[in-house]
Amino acid sequence: MPSKTFLDPATAIEHLSMYDRSDGLAVGELMNSAVHGGLTYNDFLMLPGKIDFGAHEVTTESRVTRNVVLRTPFMSSPMDTVTEGEMAIAMALLGGIGVIHHNQSPEEQAAMVRAVKRHENGFIANPVVLSPSHRVEHVLDVKERLGFAGVPITDTGALGGKLLGIVTNRDIQFRSPTTPLSEVMTTDLVTAPEGITLQEANDILRDSKKGKLPIVNKEGRLTSLLARSDLLKNQNYPLASKLPESKQLYAAAAIGTRPADRARLAVLVDAGLDIVVLDSSQGNSVYQVETIQWIKQTYPKLEVIAGNVVTREQAAALIAAGADGLRIGMGSGSICITQEVMAVGRPQATAVYAVAEFASKFGVPVIADGGIGNVGHIVKALALGAGAVMMGGLLAGTTEAPGEYFWHEGKRVKAYRGMGSIEAMEQGKPMPPSAEVNGTGPVKHSRKKATHENAATTRYFSESSAVKVAQGVSGDVQDKGTVRAFIPYLYTGLQHSLQDIGVRNVSQLQEGVRAGQVRFELRTASAQVEGGVHGLNSYTKRLFA
Ligand code: GDP
Ligand code: GDP
Ligand code: 5GP
Repeated sequence: MPSKTFLDPATAIEHLSMYDRSDGLAVGELMNSAVHGGLTYNDFLMLPGKIDFGAHEVTTESRVTRNVVLRTPFMSSPMDTVTEGEMAIAMALLGGIGVIHHNQSPEEQAAMVRAVKRHENGFIANPVVLSPSHRVEHVLDVKERLGFAGVPITDTGALGGKLLGIVTNRDIQFRSPTTPLSEVMTTDLVTAPEGITLQEANDILRDSKKGKLPIVNKEGRLTSLLARSDLLKNQNYPLASKLPESKQLYAAAAIGTRPADRARLAVLVDAGLDIVVLDSSQGNSVYQVETIQWIKQTYPKLEVIAGNVVTREQAAALIAAGADGLRIGMGSGSICITQEVMAVGRPQATAVYAVAEFASKFGVPVIADGGIGNVGHIVKALALGAGAVMMGGLLAGTTEAPGEYFWHEGKRVKAYRGMGSIEAMEQGKPMPPSAEVNGTGPVKHSRKKATHENAATTRYFSESSAVKVAQGVSGDVQDKGTVRAFIPYLYTGLQHSLQDIGVRNVSQLQEGVRAGQVRFELRTASAQVEGGVHGLNSYTKRLFA
């Protein structure tokens, strides 16, 4: 055999410069839809880069609106089987944001916003205060309604009154409900002066070993309060999405674009709303453009996420109207039949890339909404330019999602339904079928008459139609446990994926993609089969431990 001469292995890296381009495809080549049509997340992969750092060093900070940066790029959908108060609090504690749905009365929705804003604080600027003549039962009532029992006592029973004492859980244990608070309150108080920094106040709170630290002015009048439990929350949830000054969690909620939604928004803003999401399946409407302009004039500090859009032209209209963020997706959701019925929509990866590329020129972040089924989809959405992903189905079925668990075909499940399903459009809270202890029947819904404009019909422009045309289905998803375990799994998975790609954070990923350094490969149908589990007789798929 003739001997072949090989290149010197020591020159392998230098030799790469002999090729006119790097291995794989640049994002623009990948996304050239004239060649192969629109792509979904499953249609491509990223090529591995070089690892010279640990996965724990990877950070996932990302901008989701013009003025809001999150430490984890995860959002939960404004759907009545996904995000109410409990989910919104958990998502914010874990570094993301939950958008509270509007298929409920403005008052119910505002109560959820208030719960998010009350959950964690630095200085509690408007603490609940009582007077010495109030009784133990009044504190019990506060505890029942708001969940805490630490109440400062002032002469006037209000903030600004002279601080006389404090009542906490232990003071009211074993006491008759009618006992006046003057008899049970602690008067030996550790306080701190008004004007003290949060850091200093926290130090006093830590050293005093007390549960609360009242802040008083020179005349001894109460001006705010600190809670020890907030120090613990800050320690336990280091990624939490909080406003830098107040340390309160970010609250986000959805509304429609009907006249009644302006009154709804007023109630939500009063409850402390930070981010409003204009919830429409097709965002490029005069109603939405007018609503954005009106919100920007009326509440200039409120962040407005507009949408949904899937094209540059749709995005341009909303950006011009003043949107601070855009939600991308039409027909890609797991419960969605829009593309089938309306023949309108766009494959999600192509939609995210097209809109993100355009919106980035105006400094407007975008959220990839729908069709997220695993960690890989999240990474791909971020690589294509999204500032965050919004998840419905992936977070439905968790402990924090609204609704009760029930059994369906031997599996423990919760209802999950599209907001454009007939069931959501007819209002009615999702609930398990009555005979569903071990049963197999489909999910049923109560037909509670709506007392407000139905969010689901307005989202799909169906409110005035005699025949309601569904754009979503109603079903159930398996129990996924708590998001307090599931979101950390998504976060850690994302860190490992970015490590494989060879980038230390989301901006490096997006810059690398833009500069053509992060490379892609199209996946043929057989590549997708190869990339999935195959050839086994049976297997179990446990995603994290
Ligand atoms: P951090 O990164 O969340 O700790 O925020 P900062 O660096 O701005 O923290 C400034 C001070 O505020 C530190 O003493 C923190 O421990 C404290 N802090 C942060 N979050 C909270 C909170 O929710 N409540 C209270 N009381 N203090 C907080
Ligand atoms: P307590 O000991 O029963 O008062 O409750 P914790 O101290 O365990 O929890 C109080 C939590 O509620 C903290 O996270 C506070 O920031 C929050 N919170 C919100 N508003 C108020 C308020 O008006 N008073 C009190 N005490 N806590 C509040
Ligand atoms: P998933 O995460 O389950 O794939 O998708 C959730 C997203 O689907 C939501 O955030 C919302 O944008 C969209 N969506 C919710 N309900 C419906 C529906 O009934 N029809 C359609 N077309 N989209 C829906």
